[in-house]
Parts: sequence; C-alpha cells; structure tokens
Amino acid sequence: MSQDKVVKSDEEWRAQLGPDQFEVCRRKATERAFTGRYWDHHEQGTYCCAACRADLFSSATKYDSGSGWPSFWEPVAADRIAVEEDRSHGMRRTEILCARCGSHLGHVFEDGPRPTGLRYCVNSLSLDFEPGKKEGESK
Ligand code: FE
Repeated sequence: MSQDKVVKSDEEWRAQLGPDQFEVCRRKATERAFTGRYWDHHEQGTYCCAACRADLFSSATKYDSGSGWPSFWEPVAADRIAVEEDRSHGMRRTEILCARCGSHLGHVFEDGPRPTGLRYCVNSLSLDFEPGKKEGESK
C-alpha cells in the first residue's frame, strides 16, 4: 500500500518540530554523536519518523555500530526510505530521507552487518520510538 505524501511549508514544520528537530529534519543538520536519545536505546518496538510518524525501522534490525547514532541494517520496508546523493562536507555519501515527508534521517553506508551489509545511520532527532508497536499498526 502506498503512503500519502506529507507536504508542509517550512513555517508549518517549524511550528510543529522543536528548533533542534527542525534543523535536523528539514535543514539536514547532524546531531553530535553519542548525544541523542536512541543510539544506546534497546527496547523492543518501532522507530517512526519524528515529523510525520511513518514507521521506518524496527528494533529487530537495530544494532550497535559504535558510531554514536542509532543504526539499523534494514528499514521496515524499502519504500519507506528515499535516497539522494550527498556531496556536502567534501564527502560523497548517500543521504536517507523519509519517503513520506522528505525529512532528513541520516545516511546509509555499506559497512553494515549481515544480511544486508548496510548501515542506516540515523539521527535520534529524526525518530520517535513506539514501544512494542509492530509494523502495520500505524494510523
Ligand atoms: Fe516523515
């Protein structure tokens, strides 16, 4: 099932999100490593987009990458994540965004664990955690 896109103006996002969250989600800022809510968070549940609540990652695919950001080896569904080439800061990286609302999540790297070999490296500020929630139960 495809998701309805969420489109809001900067003013609307600014009013909805806190200042730090706005900078990360809508301005592609990066929170400092080891400072976020979720890098060392181990409960079972689902991580959704902090901006639009789309389910993005399950705790079942979360692992400790040592990076200081919450890291996952797979999203709950491939079509939840959009990717774009990011050439900022003298690097060439693959940015990951929420496919539903376009909010910045982080980057994906090819140094993750099996079975995918991918590391979805996400800002805690881009996520909200829903304990015990399973994929498919979102409103
Ligand atoms: Fe979103």
